[in-house]
Amino acid sequence: MTGMNFIPSSISAQNDVTSFTSSKDIPITGHYDVIVCGGGPAGFIAAIAAARQGARTALVERYGFLGGMATAGYVTPLSVFAFKGELVIGGIPWEFIKRLESLGGAFIEWPKANIDFDVELYKLCTQRMVLEANVDLYMHSTLIGCETTNKKISRIFITNKNGIESFSAKVFIDTTGDGDLAHMAGAPMQKNPDGELQPSSFCFILSNVDTESDLLKKCMYHNGINGPSQCLPVREKLLQLKASGEDIPDFGGPWFNNVLHKGCVAVNITRTATDACDNRNFTKAECQLREDIFKFTNLLKTHFREFKDCYVASCAPQAGIRESRRIIGMHTITAEEYIHAYHYPDSISRGIHPIDIHASKGTSQTRIDLQQPAYVPYRALVTKQIPNLLVAGRCISTDRQALASLRVQASCMGTGQAAGAAAALSIASNNTVQEIDTNTLIATLKKWGAVL
Ligand SMILES: Cc1cc2nc3c(=O)[nH]c(=O)nc-3n(C[C@H](O)[C@H](O)[C@H](O)COP(=O)(O)OP(=O)(O)OC[C@H]3O[C@@H](n4cnc5c(N)ncnc54)[C@H](O)[C@@H]3O)c2cc1C
Repeated sequence: MTGMNFIPSSISAQNDVTSFTSSKDIPITGHYDVIVCGGGPAGFIAAIAAARQGARTALVERYGFLGGMATAGYVTPLSVFAFKGELVIGGIPWEFIKRLESLGGAFIEWPKANIDFDVELYKLCTQRMVLEANVDLYMHSTLIGCETTNKKISRIFITNKNGIESFSAKVFIDTTGDGDLAHMAGAPMQKNPDGELQPSSFCFILSNVDTESDLLKKCMYHNGINGPSQCLPVREKLLQLKASGEDIPDFGGPWFNNVLHKGCVAVNITRTATDACDNRNFTKAECQLREDIFKFTNLLKTHFREFKDCYVASCAPQAGIRESRRIIGMHTITAEEYIHAYHYPDSISRGIHPIDIHASKGTSQTRIDLQQPAYVPYRALVTKQIPNLLVAGRCISTDRQALASLRVQASCMGTGQAAGAAAALSIASNNTVQEIDTNTLIATLKKWGAVL
């Protein structure tokens, strides 16, 4: 049985939009071994991994640059690669960090190896590594649908200035963060029992901040050496103002993150509950958050001399998304397994960031520090139903608590690396993604430097 699956309702509800019943007429403009949808931390690493294994690989990205939340959301730092000074996530992700460092674009904060980075050099470095691996890059290209035949994805549809194009592949990797391809292909997705999602935060860069001041020096780093990264004096002032009746929007932190340039910080302070997969809801939330960016900037200028001459140099291209869709995989990682560092026979990556849940309303946050690095089983990257689909990054199969740690970028890169290698292995061994030999996969990942 063949089906054409497009983003639900956005196409079919509107008669005046091109009817996708005519999608049969859209010719296939590219044939690949592996297509990776989404060029964020999971996606660009997955594409490099697949291509280095000899797979003819394409990477589709809706923006004109790679990096996902790192560059499109100004999410810094990139967390975390190490535990007590020892690498936990190695291989291509760590190679990327060393390459970025050699360009002057990364500062490694030991012992956890949180990575402060320069957003523009991050874009340059990802692009170079992807192109050097001979990945065909389709930027400014949005995934809008797929065709499935007997549950197998046969091709995807993307839109860009050339029109609507379709590409076929043997294996597809969904690294859209929101699980767009899995959702379009009809994979079962998880439902949060209470409908609760972590809030969105719209990050921005402030310039002309006194980054040499004690206030900033104490909180700009995440290695715990100078104090907590959350800027407590600012937090307390905002809470005080709120208590005295001033109109202070919900906020988190705040965090003033190092972007490697004197006078500049990436600010993570705004917060609102939203469903990022609902266009109307997300648009409304983003407009509200943009207002809040300027409100908080004025508050900082008024109450803290370190910020008195600062200005909003730039808002991220989009509000950041912490939580949206996730697949129901062959295995769903639970908090219980995660916190106790359960070792699976098919462990393919790790995670050591705290379980970090931001309240969707208000100013609170719950954190559980891990006592030892956790593991990720390959089966969390694969659905039971679709024989040629892998997912990596934020949309893998976890419960809410495990996601609250695994969503960070180094962990997303780790699952991206595994997904890329698994896709190539599935093709080379002529097995479905569910049937590949995970010992061979693990051996490849270890050879690259993964710490399993
Ligand atoms: C406010 C905030 C603070 C955070 N703090 C930290 C932190 O301190 N440290 C840390 O490491 N992590 C942090 N995170 C988490 C982290 O940034 C993300 O979870 C991580 O980037 C997810 O990686 P990903 O590759 O799965 O998805 P993403 O980074 O979301 O990348 C997905 C990519 O797919 C593309 N895409 C999406 N849909 C389509 C489509 N239909 N067609 C084509 N392309 C598409 C996007 O443009 C994007 O490039 C934070 C997140 C937020 C929002």
